[in-house]
Amino acid sequence: MLYADVSWQPVMDAVQQAKQIHIVAHVNPDADTIGSQLALYHALKSMGKCVVMHNQDIAPYICRYLPAVDDITHGDVPSEIAASDLVIAVDAGSMGRLGMEASYFEDKILINIDHHASNTLYGSINVVDARYCATGAMIYDLLQHLNVPLNMGSASAIYAAVLTDTASFRLTSVDADVHRMVADLIDAGADVGLAAQSIYQSHKPARFELLKHALDSLNISHNGRVAWISLAHNLYERTNLCGEDSEGFIDYARSIEGVDIAVFIREEKLQEWKVSFRAKAPCDVGVVAGMLGGGGHQYAAGCTLFGTLDEVQEKIKHALVDMLNS
Ligand code: 5GP
Ligand code: MN
Repeated sequence: MLYADVSWQPVMDAVQQAKQIHIVAHVNPDADTIGSQLALYHALKSMGKCVVMHNQDIAPYICRYLPAVDDITHGDVPSEIAASDLVIAVDAGSMGRLGMEASYFEDKILINIDHHASNTLYGSINVVDARYCATGAMIYDLLQHLNVPLNMGSASAIYAAVLTDTASFRLTSVDADVHRMVADLIDAGADVGLAAQSIYQSHKPARFELLKHALDSLNISHNGRVAWISLAHNLYERTNLCGEDSEGFIDYARSIEGVDIAVFIREEKLQEWKVSFRAKAPCDVGVVAGMLGGGGHQYAAGCTLFGTLDEVQEKIKHALVDMLNS
């Protein structure tokens, strides 16, 4: 167990009493939210619970190898899923991140399990703890409280969540306990080689066309401290790719010597820009993204901004001033 002082009892009580449980991931799902969703699904199924998974958006291709990923549906909520009396949201910092109308939750208990410091505590039951390196690691602890042993499905899912949310175990959130957990996951059947191949070595060739454009746009400001990458909507159209295909591009910007903050601005729809931030210690981009209406963690955060690329860059520069002067 990573943290023994977390209060899981209300979650366990709600799970015991539930007739049907809907587990939901956040919009534009990443491997932490999908891994958490799947791990909990495997565990609750093995307890004999009636459990379903439905998200607004499709799971990213890097998660396609995970057991039971095909049991996740997406799009409008079907009536049989809406009949659930308990919803468990994983890795979503606010209700808006679930991409569903607030009215969906009115006749249901909503459990919010998350590791974002900026979480708005929108659930009827909230287990929010920013000490965890990933929401998947919270599910690892919850499974021990529920007395459900790991199986190949849950171990693989938690491994994917933790591997990706720690940037492959490179963040300061990774301590010896995290590695002990990983040892446990491997013992239970998580395939490290398959995960590496599926997550990091299965990209479409067209991604590298897009990467060329991204690197072409690389621009460094603030005396070498901020690195910018941007991609306009038409480049995604031309390459027939979408946002998930440029996952990780921002790491090139952060990897530059002397750069404290990396910014990746991609045009999701015309004049609607998804902004990603990455930082090196001691900078905190969670604060910066929060000022711009988004959220996240100290080293990885994001928001959505509207306007021309120049206008969006100006807004971001404005929000960066305090962080770079402190
Ligand atoms: P990414 O840059 O990979 O999309 O997101 C990095 C981190 O920031 C993730 O932990 C994600 O949950 C958070 N994040 C990204 N975009 C938003 C947003 O628009 N709102 C909030 N609240 N968090 C975001
Ligand atoms: Mn996460």
